[in-house]
Amino acid sequence: MSAGRYAPSPSGDLHLGNLRTALLAWLFARSSGRGFLMRIEDLDRGRDAGAADRQLEDLAELGIDWDGPAVLQTERGDDHDAAIAELAERGLVYECSCTRRDILAAPTAPHAPPGAYPGTCRDRNEAERAAARERILPRLPALRLRVPEGAEQLAFEDRLMGRVTGVVDDLVLRRGDGAVAYNLAVVVDDASMGVDQVVRGDDLASSTPRQIVLQRLLGLPAPPAVEYAHVPLVLGPSGARLAKRDGAVTLRELQAHGIGVERVRSRLAESLGLAAPGESVCIEQILARFDPGLLPREPWVWTPDPT
Ligand code: GLU
Repeated sequence: MSAGRYAPSPSGDLHLGNLRTALLAWLFARSSGRGFLMRIEDLDRGRDAGAADRQLEDLAELGIDWDGPAVLQTERGDDHDAAIAELAERGLVYECSCTRRDILAAPTAPHAPPGAYPGTCRDRNEAERAAARERILPRLPALRLRVPEGAEQLAFEDRLMGRVTGVVDDLVLRRGDGAVAYNLAVVVDDASMGVDQVVRGDDLASSTPRQIVLQRLLGLPAPPAVEYAHVPLVLGPSGARLAKRDGAVTLRELQAHGIGVERVRSRLAESLGLAAPGESVCIEQILARFDPGLLPREPWVWTPDPT
């Protein structure tokens, strides 16, 4: 099956930025005849069923529908483990005992961006690894990908951003606390769910080159068989990324201020050039009007309705 998806992390209610990204993911998928799938990215917090349920309720209220039950990432651990084991068998995984502070303090390679892994633990022999493991107890080493030579930089074509080039450092596959890392899980899950269209916030565009390297190493579908569209974030009235401090920004908060779901849906559509100011539109109208080529490429600045 050919499918798009929305993959929220269950860390609280979705704000307007998240809702707008979800609406776009749904529009891209449905307008291209794809299925639309939902995945709860709950690796960080274990099962946070409460937040996830509220998120799904809000999405459904907006008119977004999805095929089949939402997939919980924490239930997909066997596939994640198998992918890491496969990479390890091929010598592509190494233990890393660095803390965040170690990484920031280490000298960086000349063109590496700040925060890129400097390779401190990459070439350790068994004795050095054992000593490092001992030194950091009770913490366990993280597992990192040994990025093959030549793959340290990668470009892809984004439907909205055009050509995006990014650095691929030795990314973490499994964290020191045993949790599977986002980049590995997202690649394995998208492939297993049949996702061939990824629409998400443009704050994740810089992770995509890393994910494409993983797709290729694991023999999973990669661009051009998978398409990416990274959508601009929503900014608050101050011009900074929309956040809770900007007042009523979730569907429920807005409803509590007398701004109903139709109004929120219509304002989101207006921000995408799919409704006239003040016009009330249903989800079918938004879908019928959707044209990816005409989407605004600029961030949308949310200003509350005057009350
Ligand atoms: N879980 C991520 C988020 O909520 C999205 C990951 C993705 O779409 O690849 O920001």
